Amino acid sequence: MVPFVRLSHTSQMPQNPIDDGTKSLYLIYLCDNRVIKERNLIRHIRRLAGFSMSRAVVRGIGDDCAILRLSAGSELLVTTDLCLENVHFRQAWHPAPAVGHRCLTRGLSDIAAMGGEPLACFLSLGLPEDLPQSWVNGFLRGLLKLAKKFNVQLAGGDISAAHQITADIIVTGQVPAGKAVLRSGARPGDRIYVTGSLGGSAAVLKQLYAGKTVKPTRSSAHFYPTPRLEAGTWLRKRGLATAMIDLSDGLSVDLTHICDESRVSAVITAHNLPLGKGADLELALHGGEDYELLFTAPKRTQVPRQIAGTRITEIGEIQNRTNYSTAIHILGENGKVRPLAQRGWEHFSKQR
Ligand SMILES: [Mg+2]
Repeated sequence: MVPFVRLSHTSQMPQNPIDDGTKSLYLIYLCDNRVIKERNLIRHIRRLAGFSMSRAVVRGIGDDCAILRLSAGSELLVTTDLCLENVHFRQAWHPAPAVGHRCLTRGLSDIAAMGGEPLACFLSLGLPEDLPQSWVNGFLRGLLKLAKKFNVQLAGGDISAAHQITADIIVTGQVPAGKAVLRSGARPGDRIYVTGSLGGSAAVLKQLYAGKTVKPTRSSAHFYPTPRLEAGTWLRKRGLATAMIDLSDGLSVDLTHICDESRVSAVITAHNLPLGKGADLELALHGGEDYELLFTAPKRTQVPRQIAGTRITEIGEIQNRTNYSTAIHILGENGKVRPLAQRGWEHFSKQR
């Protein structure tokens, strides 16, 4: 990873710059009938990213490495996520600012799930040659608006030619040493809680698959999800959560991660699940990209109904794990308990 400093060392452009084996040195970025060299795009991004937004970034874009400063007694959190065209988004469905916003949300949500505070992000982009500059600008606008909201400086990255839009986001954060909230701390008897509501993002996706037009408003849980950073740090500071994870792949998959890491099982109460706009039980259980937090807390702990302005709902209980084939059961409306299969987020899989 190079923090946006890889520039051409010659003004002589090769005949076929993309295929001469030095792609990153000579990448020509074609757009709107203009030719923009990689160095200009980097300058453009550097200008947009700002220079002194965060005290945590000692040196950002413009050197061989970024330099980050941690608070005394803190540990570094690092998370990486890919955002691929036709896997995580479609140009026809998702406006560029929403793609940028969702890309950074994935990383920020992981930092939130550890109870961490974000420090800086790093963005590597693979861009098709015929992609309009306006798309890149929109993507950066969406990403940087969210970055500014949470004081996360874009501190580096890389750019290359690609057949499809590819964004690789790395987000760093910090947490007081030994205080990160892990997936492995849930104990039998703990209650299970979620922030916000579930299935709202998947409900929008279902509409898009059905050929319906959905307006990508700023308040949409699908197009502009909110990473629950305030709730995550609130829970960590009070030592309230025994385990935590963010809901990116769907409740049935992500709760299984908690159960596997903690060596416990879980029972979910169906009628307690907070359904998002347009969501049903199926989407709340298996829909992805809610970016809410799921956490566990001991039975006697007083968990508030709201944390940092976000609703908190108790949805179930952690139990001893006796059968390793089934981590989660669900208590249905009919009063019967049945095993819950993991059927999480399949992105834009062909089966749909
Ligand atoms: Mg996660």
